[in-house]
Amino acid sequence: MPLITETKDFVCSVCGASSEHTIITETDPPKDAPDLDLRPAEPHRSYMRYWVMQCPGCGYCNAMLDMPADIDRDYLSSEEYLSFGGISGVSGKPAEMIKKALICLKGHDYREALQTYVYAAWLLDDEKLDEQAAACRKAAVRIYDEHPVTFRKDPNFSVLIADLLRRSGEFSRVVRDYEGQAYPSRVMTSIAFFEVNLAAKGDRDAHRADEVPGITAI
Ligand SMILES: [Zn+2]
Repeated sequence: MPLITETKDFVCSVCGASSEHTIITETDPPKDAPDLDLRPAEPHRSYMRYWVMQCPGCGYCNAMLDMPADIDRDYLSSEEYLSFGGISGVSGKPAEMIKKALICLKGHDYREALQTYVYAAWLLDDEKLDEQAAACRKAAVRIYDEHPVTFRKDPNFSVLIADLLRRSGEFSRVVRDYEGQAYPSRVMTSIAFFEVNLAAKGDRDAHRADEVPGITAI
């Protein structure tokens, strides 16, 4: 039972249009270790296409279209929204994911916005659109930097940012901000140390969490 999906109608919370989308109803838990940014291993790695939907009526994007939107409908026809926040050359699910991130950002849900840009980066990684993936990671880092009150007390985000910086080529900041950084959890301290070593070597590839010395799974 690796994946069970269901196709059903969703009524858009913004415009009221009804459209059909496929959602995941059941999956097995992942067996293998995730990447350092917690992207799950296969088969869950490939399920992201079910994580966002777009309304054909108004262009609203969210995980489920019946979820309320904390935005004015006008925003959906704004230049910012229609140009994916300035990230060009994207289409399909990555574009929908970026739009969802923009809606979260507009609605001041900074945690969900940051996480959604990370999801968009994963989708773009799969399409080998490295420049756009890096732009999404940088957008996520920008949200983190601009909203310190939301994030600074959560070490999970701090560790995630190290990976986003390294994967987008910001090696010197990883070394500067994370060298010698200690966290309440030994696992996090080990990951930060590992990220610094990778950044010092100029390595911007994806790495699995179980590559970190002393960690077998997260
Ligand atoms: Zn709609």
